[in-house]
Amino acid sequence: MDSRNQPLRQCVGCRKVRPKAELLRFVRNPSAEAVFDREGRHEGRGFYLCPGEQCFAKAYKNKRIRNNYFRKREQINELIYEVREELLKMIKKDLIRCKKMAYLMDGPCKENSIREDDLILYLNDNLPEEKVEMHAAARAGGAKIYRLPKGCECNSPCLIVSKECPIAPRLTMNLQKYDLLSSKGLAR
Ligand SMILES: [Zn+2]
Repeated sequence: MDSRNQPLRQCVGCRKVRPKAELLRFVRNPSAEAVFDREGRHEGRGFYLCPGEQCFAKAYKNKRIRNNYFRKREQINELIYEVREELLKMIKKDLIRCKKMAYLMDGPCKENSIREDDLILYLNDNLPEEKVEMHAAARAGGAKIYRLPKGCECNSPCLIVSKECPIAPRLTMNLQKYDLLSSKGLAR
């Protein structure tokens, strides 16, 4: 994607402006509570947040946001939980789609079969050393590497989504958001 033509939005937490696709959008439900707008297509007013816990916490400190979308502090953690669950659902669905379209390779992944912009997903942190080295080489070669979220059923320790897969960009973005929301958040 050409970064110059991407629509930009501001996070109400940290106030940074980022490409809209990297942010999470929230809208107000009939009970005047914030709900995750996973496709970003709901009508009406809403707000954007970075996929990081600190930005959720900062949003609650924003008086306008708090008065319009939240009634109690606990809603922040509930919302983070909801977003993670929704992202996980989308990731699972997309992996099934990739497999159906034959863009998913789940055999033993060999270094020479990984190309720039391929998406590599691996199951756990305890990879054998040769795998770690192989993934480092793949990353240096431009492959995108993510941990497969817990709850994604998979019999293979490593999945490769081919860069030709039309839904790979969406899958990558959702994995990135899930990853950031499960760790310490954006560091830039
Ligand atoms: Zn932010």
